[in-house]
Amino acid sequence: APAPAERMSRVKESPSSRVADRVREFQAAGRKVLPLTIGEPDFDTPDHVKEAAIAAIRAGETKYTSANGTPALQKAITARLLRKTGQSYAGDEICVGGGAKQLIFLAFMATLDEGDEVIVPAPYWVSYPDMVTVNGGRPVTVATTADEGYKLTPDQLREAITDRTTWVVLNTPNNPTGAVYSESELRGLTDVVRAHPHVSILCDEIYDEINYGARPVPSAVTVAPDLRRRIFLVNGVSKAYAMTGWRIGYGAGAAGLCAAIGTLQSQSSSCPSSVSQAAAVAALDGGREFIDRTVGIYTERRDLLVSGLAAIDGLRPTAPEGGFYVWVDASALMGSVTPSGKRITTDAELAEHFLDTSGVVVISGDSYGCPGHFRASFALSSEIIGEAVAGLARSVELLR
Ligand code: PLP
Repeated sequence: APAPAERMSRVKESPSSRVADRVREFQAAGRKVLPLTIGEPDFDTPDHVKEAAIAAIRAGETKYTSANGTPALQKAITARLLRKTGQSYAGDEICVGGGAKQLIFLAFMATLDEGDEVIVPAPYWVSYPDMVTVNGGRPVTVATTADEGYKLTPDQLREAITDRTTWVVLNTPNNPTGAVYSESELRGLTDVVRAHPHVSILCDEIYDEINYGARPVPSAVTVAPDLRRRIFLVNGVSKAYAMTGWRIGYGAGAAGLCAAIGTLQSQSSSCPSSVSQAAAVAALDGGREFIDRTVGIYTERRDLLVSGLAAIDGLRPTAPEGGFYVWVDASALMGSVTPSGKRITTDAELAEHFLDTSGVVVISGDSYGCPGHFRASFALSSEIIGEAVAGLARSVELLR
């Protein structure tokens, strides 16, 4: 077999993909699991979106498109961005790829030289650090605190910036904590970035439609339109429209960056799927009915999961302002002992204990750069959430 390249030592399989595989294995073996690991909506893609894709297939929209997306999709994206941010983006300031994930990866590939730094506030989405390192950069993680609502402060940002800093990553709403930056918090951070002209902001807004507070979710570009060319907004249709398998994401920012991403796509995937792009147009142009309905359902599930977890001694959940995850502080359980006499010293061991004793699967905090915690998803039916809460309560009660 060909020997792996050196860069492969700088990347590992995404922990969420690994856990998802593990859940499938358990289920295949006939074991009942309660997977609070789910990282995608459990709803079906809306019918009008499916119909648009079928119509596109019938109309012969089955060929390569331009690398950064069809004019129709670029138009739908610019309309959405105008609605959300008040900014009008031109077609060459938009790029479209196979998911927000691919665009973040390509943005790093297009901009990072060996040793360039990317500031990543922790807890972070599991993929950012690996995406940085495999592209030659250096992730600089900055621990946020529960007291600050798990948000990066302007002082922390100022201290983390060096002359090698290329990007700061802001993920709002955040996976895993559910934190949403307010306009004034974003203003504080963009003020710091304004004073450092070599620093850009990668704003991952993939969960922005799933939010329980002010709408639209504030965006860095709204509070600092003068930094528009230094802000790369990343979004997509996966979470808002239950379209994870269609693989369409988009970015908006400097035309030069979008062109570079287009060049990389032209030499790797050629373009995103033509059929999925037609579906994404229907999603973005199709009104808010689906989003309003599903956010209503998520709200009930969120309340169920947060109140259930809060009632368990030793667990401290944070009610998310956006997204469909609850971030849970389980540090009080570290050092406790299982019935078989095993001392739990890490969140990974705690997650194993949950799985062993009640079949509940959670993703441990170390994956997000924040030990002593875990992430619990509520992209699941209320029934499963109820069973999982009961299971976790039993598992915790077994600890001494
Ligand atoms: N960004 C964050 C914070 C996510 O949690 C995810 C998916 O889990 C993505 C990006 C990727 O989304 P997409 O399906 O558009 O690649």
